[in-house]
Amino acid sequence: MTADTITAADIRINARWLIPVEPFGIVLEHQAVILQGCRIADVLSQSEADLKYRTRETVNLDRHVVLPGLINLHGHTAMSLFRGLADDLPLMTWLNDHIWPAEGKFVSEPFVLDGTRLAMAEMLRTGTTTFSDMYFFPEVTAQVAHDAGMRAQVCFPLMDMPTVWGSGPDEYLRKGAALIEQWQGDDYIMPAIGPHAPYTVSDQPLKDAVNLAEKTGAAIQLHLHETAFEVDEAVKASGKRPVTRMAELGVLGRNTQCVHMTQIDDSDMEQLAHSGAHIVHCPESNLKLASGLCPVQKLMDHGINVTIGTDGAASNNDLDLFGELKTAAMVAKVVAGDASALSAHRALEMATLNGARALGREQELGSLVAGKLADLIAVDLSDPFLQPVYDPASHLVYSNHGRAVSHSWIHGVPQLQDGRLTRIDVPDLMLRVGEWRQQILS
Ligand SMILES: [Zn+2]
Repeated sequence: MTADTITAADIRINARWLIPVEPFGIVLEHQAVILQGCRIADVLSQSEADLKYRTRETVNLDRHVVLPGLINLHGHTAMSLFRGLADDLPLMTWLNDHIWPAEGKFVSEPFVLDGTRLAMAEMLRTGTTTFSDMYFFPEVTAQVAHDAGMRAQVCFPLMDMPTVWGSGPDEYLRKGAALIEQWQGDDYIMPAIGPHAPYTVSDQPLKDAVNLAEKTGAAIQLHLHETAFEVDEAVKASGKRPVTRMAELGVLGRNTQCVHMTQIDDSDMEQLAHSGAHIVHCPESNLKLASGLCPVQKLMDHGINVTIGTDGAASNNDLDLFGELKTAAMVAKVVAGDASALSAHRALEMATLNGARALGREQELGSLVAGKLADLIAVDLSDPFLQPVYDPASHLVYSNHGRAVSHSWIHGVPQLQDGRLTRIDVPDLMLRVGEWRQQILS
């Protein structure tokens, strides 16, 4: 090769191990990832990269595994400020007696601003590069995520009852339409529609949500079949399971993300598969609130796309997606009665490419392939709790600790360098979080 075949690029990342997610199930060694602007220009062996590229900057990660950034597809980010406020309670008691009253009292624009920052700091530290949010003041969340350079699907809340963000469905839909108009087409922010759940939203606002989704292309995300109680009450009141009601209203489709789905019978399975809707599995929230367990392997066997989310920090109580993956893999095996259910590589795919599919962005996100956007992370495997290394994929799912994440880039921009956040002022954030704690306590 001669000098004129050498290409200039921005960043070269030398990885001891690389899990590209596409092709599925492989671990490569001594690879280089070349970044040019916001995209991945190439993924190739380090010896080939020596001949082919000259880069402005080289990052040597010789004890690390590099993989796509994780996608946390469900959460209520600002609820981080309620972490540990009310535990050991069933869902409806937790919501009615603790969370909803606290939200009525404290949730405001500054609360959402600080709570979102706190959540983003935790997510970036533990390998998440894209998150989904469903909470009040989504215009604040969108701006804060955009300013920090984090990718986010921001779902505006929709429900029958008045809240701090609006008087009812008409106002939520009006404000939500403005949010979609403001952010549609943005590189980082994906505005979306967040009907809270079948039991909190009546038919007309759900139909209006479907119309808005069809008109704008925005996704719909809703909590669905979170508990047996939800399904039983709906059947008692209307004779219909919530999935059937959602299907009849047109809510289920390729652009819809159903969160939880712990209760699934054969008819639900058929309607979900037929609709092309995506499932967001939140195992730790389901375990903590004793909601039930989603049959992940069975859904996947039916060709349904299953993704993962942490849910809010108040019902988890952390946003470490690697921890969530471990729980998901363990729970999937028990639920399926099969130790081969949800393998380590399937779990990693669930937290990356499957998330990108649910967002409709699998051409751009979710795997390390030339031409895709440069959202990637590195995990340092040199700590005693990750030694020795036989299979990095196994370690990431079964032995990892999100805090071993050392580096991340989003849109080609460094977000985490040797464990340090580059764009969030953590000491300042901790002062504000301390002030919120004082206020909420008193
Ligand atoms: Zn939730």
